[in-house]
Amino acid sequence: MNDDKALYPPVDPITTGIRGLCPRCGQGHLFDGFLKVRPACESCELDYRFADSGDGPVVFVILIVGFVVLGAALWMEVSLNPPLWLHFLLWIPLATAFSLALTRMLKGLLINLQYRNSARSGEIDRG
Ligand SMILES: [Zn+2]
Repeated sequence: MNDDKALYPPVDPITTGIRGLCPRCGQGHLFDGFLKVRPACESCELDYRFADSGDGPVVFVILIVGFVVLGAALWMEVSLNPPLWLHFLLWIPLATAFSLALTRMLKGLLINLQYRNSARSGEIDRG
């Protein structure tokens, strides 16, 4: 992961992660398409095979979107009492769009933080 000897100025993992940029150089793109991670950075050629955010981003998306959308829907129901079709028309597209946008940002953020903190699977040291 951090085995090469090239020197790069440190990048802020939060801003590069949210923007979907390379965790090492901060210039190349992390994603090939919407959520698929590229094989390597097109700018500094960092191998992205280490990148494994797993279920991490989805947990945060569920918690954040669930809290915001359900809270807003409950508030709207109690204070305005709109018809049911308006709830469906408003909250289903909003929750879908919010989830997709947030998944990309959080996946980039977690991969950037994984690189920054050299996080990887545990290994047994038999030496
Ligand atoms: Zn790069």
